[in-house]
Amino acid sequence: MNRVLLFASLACLSASALADSILIENVRIFNGVDANLAPGNVLIEDGIISRISSETINAPEDAVVIDGGNRVLSPGFIDLHVHLTGHVPFSQGDAHATVAGAIANDVARHFLDSGFTTVRDAGGTHPDLARAIELGTIYGPRVYPSGAVLSQTGGHGDWRHPSAPNPMLEDGSHYIYGDQAVIVDGVDQHLAAVRENLRLGATQIKIMGGGGVMSDYDPIHSLQPSPAEIRAAVQAAGDFGTYVLAHAYTSEAVRRLIDNGVRCIEHGLLIDDATAKYVKKNNVVISTQLVVYRALKDLPGITGTQLEKLAIVLQGQENLIGLIKKYDITTGFSTDLIGGMYPMLTREFTERALYWTPGEVLAQATSESAKIIRMAGKLNRHGNFGEIREGWVADILLINGEPLEDISVLRDPANNLALIMKGGKIVKNQIPQ
Ligand SMILES: [Zn+2]
Repeated sequence: MNRVLLFASLACLSASALADSILIENVRIFNGVDANLAPGNVLIEDGIISRISSETINAPEDAVVIDGGNRVLSPGFIDLHVHLTGHVPFSQGDAHATVAGAIANDVARHFLDSGFTTVRDAGGTHPDLARAIELGTIYGPRVYPSGAVLSQTGGHGDWRHPSAPNPMLEDGSHYIYGDQAVIVDGVDQHLAAVRENLRLGATQIKIMGGGGVMSDYDPIHSLQPSPAEIRAAVQAAGDFGTYVLAHAYTSEAVRRLIDNGVRCIEHGLLIDDATAKYVKKNNVVISTQLVVYRALKDLPGITGTQLEKLAIVLQGQENLIGLIKKYDITTGFSTDLIGGMYPMLTREFTERALYWTPGEVLAQATSESAKIIRMAGKLNRHGNFGEIREGWVADILLINGEPLEDISVLRDPANNLALIMKGGKIVKNQIPQ
């Protein structure tokens, strides 16, 4: 190949990927909130949406101009419950942390290529992975890491082999399972574990606040941990300006968590009507997931005990969705896919569309999730995103098809996401020049 030509094409590529100014013309804008489309043009400068107009925008001279071809322009998607390092297949059993890390590389790529420009890691992933993505070492979405999940002994994050020594009772680390969980009992250990996560770069803290499906020793009805321990975690997170999200299913567990300062409940499938009302009254979020619960039963390696627990929580799923709608509880968009199930990510869109309109699902995956991300308060270093607004971070998708009418177009991001921009940087562009 002609060397000059090669340089020219490389220069062209990097100009479109790294340009300071990008003008996207001729699009129909979904702003992340309203279920309608406004024809217009969008100017992005230094990673920020600087101008939105239905009139022609005069771009700076050096701007890259993209003809959006009347496509739908949407904010990038957000998943509130991801485990980037949680995808070692269960059938493979215990594996060294390097295996989880290697797979996480594929998981991160899959999320960004599916249009997810931001994820909140709901525990397990070391904050260093978020940093590596931010530095460009690894390709993936912006990550809000929670660090190691906090679990009491015998709780939902105690994934040790039955005969493994208790880290509290033997010399050794409290960190287990490739540092993805930390076993803590007592107020002091909760304070220390939260502070350690924050020291490493966690933007919020995840605790196991009740029995769960994928752990072997804790019945679903079990309450975890004690009120004083919950308060300790909330206090230490709050002292850094952030919040605690907690895994929980039952009304009793959810009430205990709320009464002790937790602002975001994960799952919540078994709550009753009065507890849903209490959630709303206290302005608490329930981040819940659909696909994972329906697909888990077919996952190779799932045990009989886990299947029994899965059946218990699944009984409440449709009821919970009804309660979220009845009391207009903030829920956002989240998947909690684990054990290698991440290719099912975009199935969550169509599964939700069985209960919500496509416009509502898209708002969940953009503006509503972004509000929950911003609960990280002073630890949110990335600014505002999740809506198409002047002054906000330019996380932008151009979509082939009409997602507000037929959300299933999002099931095929390889063909239907024509452009993906994260923080003003184009990471995919299939629009013919
Ligand atoms: Zn989870």
